Amino acid sequence: MLDLIVRQANLNGALKDIAVQGESLVEIADHIKQPTRREVFADGRVVIPGFVDCHMHLDKCLLNERAPYVDGTGPEKGALTLQQKAQFTVDDITKRAESMIQRAIASGTLAIRTNVDVDASVGLKGIHALIALREKYRSLITIQVAAFAQEGVFADGETAELLEQALLAGADLLGGHTITKGEGEKHIDFILKLAMKYHVDVDFHLDESGQRQHYLLPYLIAQMKTLDLKGRVNGIHNCTLAALEPQSVKEALALMADQELNVTVAPTAISTRSLAPVKQLLNAGIRVGLGSDNIRDFFNPLGSGDIKQAALLLSYVHRFFTLSEQAAIWRMITTDGARILKLADYEIRVGAPANLTVLDALTPQTVIAYGAQPVLLVRSGQVILDRQER
Ligand SMILES: [Zn+2]
Repeated sequence: MLDLIVRQANLNGALKDIAVQGESLVEIADHIKQPTRREVFADGRVVIPGFVDCHMHLDKCLLNERAPYVDGTGPEKGALTLQQKAQFTVDDITKRAESMIQRAIASGTLAIRTNVDVDASVGLKGIHALIALREKYRSLITIQVAAFAQEGVFADGETAELLEQALLAGADLLGGHTITKGEGEKHIDFILKLAMKYHVDVDFHLDESGQRQHYLLPYLIAQMKTLDLKGRVNGIHNCTLAALEPQSVKEALALMADQELNVTVAPTAISTRSLAPVKQLLNAGIRVGLGSDNIRDFFNPLGSGDIKQAALLLSYVHRFFTLSEQAAIWRMITTDGARILKLADYEIRVGAPANLTVLDALTPQTVIAYGAQPVLLVRSGQVILDRQER
């Protein structure tokens, strides 16, 4: 007896029955005739394992609920955030992050990578909170925790040691910021060497300002090559690419492709600067994922943790309007995002973990256009949401 059959779901363009037994997918066929304890009729709706959000700041989300948004420059917003960070407790971070994790799951997200600040102001509070949440929600969502040097590595005299402690405490990877506090090349060197010591991947907030004087991508890639870190780094933002001459962009894309530097675009950044040239990145064979980034804090007063919002925004900003362009956007929040996060088993196939997200639309294009929400969520074989339940 099977545990569950999801009938006639749109799986990569074909209508299939999908059977679940225990925590695994056990059969995928046009029509499954075996007896089952439960069946759900997808009626042609799209099914995926779940969405992938490559970049969040769960430790800092929802700060607007206690300190209203005020407009200002980047440094002013950073100072306001630092004031709040000094008051964080593990309990407070846990409550805000958990609320956003639950929203993300409800919107169909299966995996999140979050950068978590580590520095003298907040210590390891964010790391402890997010590692506990990662374990608590492990059967429902994959959460990757990056120990992030938001305030620089060297200024406060403590961050270098704290980053190492965060990795020893169980952080999954490291997060650097190439322009913070003017540390530049020294910062990149430190983060890459620490990553090598602990055999972890790296996220860099890379060339985030969009200004030419902050262009550190060539240096980062040269160091990746020297240290044999091909395919191990994800560059978030890369806004300076939008300010370069065409020939310089062409040279940069070749370097990025050679070292398999992945790129995560956070489309909400468009409120203050130009986004990386996403179509050119894709044409150069560079893998691109999307991230919600800041949500309801001093950098972004909006957002809900639903990565489909980022997909819609990028579609407008860079005119991803044709069917093939919309398919590229779809890959960013599904398969390509999963590759950037190196998710094992991100697939609907026999033998894979039973993670199914049936969305209330008949095609990927309409999922994005309508902001379609899940009607069925199966995680690790358990039905956690069934909007068709009678
Ligand atoms: Zn960020």
